[in-house]
Amino acid sequence: MIAIYTYIKELLLREGIELFAPVPLSSCRITKKYLLERAGIECGTVIMLAVPYLSEELTEKRNISAYCAVRDYHLYFSGLWDRILPLLSEKFPRNRFAGFADHSPIDERYAAAVAGIGIFGKNGMIITEKYSSYVFLGELITDANIPCKPQKIRECEGCMKCRRECPMNETGQCLSALTQKKGDLSEAEVSAVIKYGSAWGCDICQEVCPHTVLAIKNGTIYTKIEYFRNGVIPILDLPILDSMSNEEFLTRAFSWRGRDTVRRNLLLFSKEG
Ligand code: SF4
Ligand code: SF4
Repeated sequence: MIAIYTYIKELLLREGIELFAPVPLSSCRITKKYLLERAGIECGTVIMLAVPYLSEELTEKRNISAYCAVRDYHLYFSGLWDRILPLLSEKFPRNRFAGFADHSPIDERYAAAVAGIGIFGKNGMIITEKYSSYVFLGELITDANIPCKPQKIRECEGCMKCRRECPMNETGQCLSALTQKKGDLSEAEVSAVIKYGSAWGCDICQEVCPHTVLAIKNGTIYTKIEYFRNGVIPILDLPILDSMSNEEFLTRAFSWRGRDTVRRNLLLFSKEG
C-alpha cells in the first residue's frame, strides 16, 4: 500500500500540488454515500488535496472574489482526475480510485481538518499554513488501505478580525450570498452590493485574517499552477461579460447562477455610474 501512496505523491507533485495528506475513509463524514457506491468503494483511504489558486495577476482592486477571477476549479479538477486516475488504475488494477471536488461523498472541510492539512477558521474556511484559505479542496478516494491516522482537529485562534471587518456584520447577511442570489434584490440588498462594489462574491473575511496576511508576507500564498495563473479576470464589466461566448462563460465559477445574475449585479454599478 505504501507503493500506491508513493505513486500518488509522485503524480500530485508532478501536477504542482504540494499540500495533501491521507486519512482513513472511516474517519470522514460521509454525506453522499451514493457517490461512493457509484465508485464501488466501501472503505479505504481519502487523500485530501488543498490546491492553491490565488494568482499574482490579481490586483487588490478586483470586483469579483478571487476564486472566480480565476478559471473554474470544477474544470481544473475534472482535468486533473482525467490525467491521473487512468495512470493509477493501470498501475494498480486491483484497486479502485475516484476523484471528487465540491460534489463529494464526504464533508470536505471536515476531512481536510482531520487529514491535518488545515485548521477550521472562524471565517468558515479551512486555513492552511502556506496558502491561508485560498485553496480549493479536492479528494482522491481509493479502496486501498494506506497507513495513516486521523489528526486532532484544530481551530484558529479566534481573533475575530474576520467578523469585525465583515461589511455585513450588522445585517446577518453575507455579501457573497447576495451577489449569487437569483432574481430581484431588495432595496437594502442593492445598496449593499453598490456600496461594497462587488460584482460577485466577497473575500474580506479571508483577506483580513492574520493567516492570510502572514502567507502574503512570507510570499507563500500564490499559486504556481498554470491553470490558475492564466486567464485571470480581476475586474469584470459588462463589455467583458457580453464578449464571452457561452463556452467561455461556462469556464468561470460565477456561471453557475446563469448570466443574468452576474449581469444584474454589473448593471447596478453602471446605473450608479
Ligand atoms: S480572522 Fe481571526 S478569527 Fe477569523 S479566521 Fe482568521 S484567525 Fe480565525
Ligand atoms: S464573505 Fe464578506 S460579507 Fe460574507 S461573511 Fe465574509 S466578509 Fe462578511
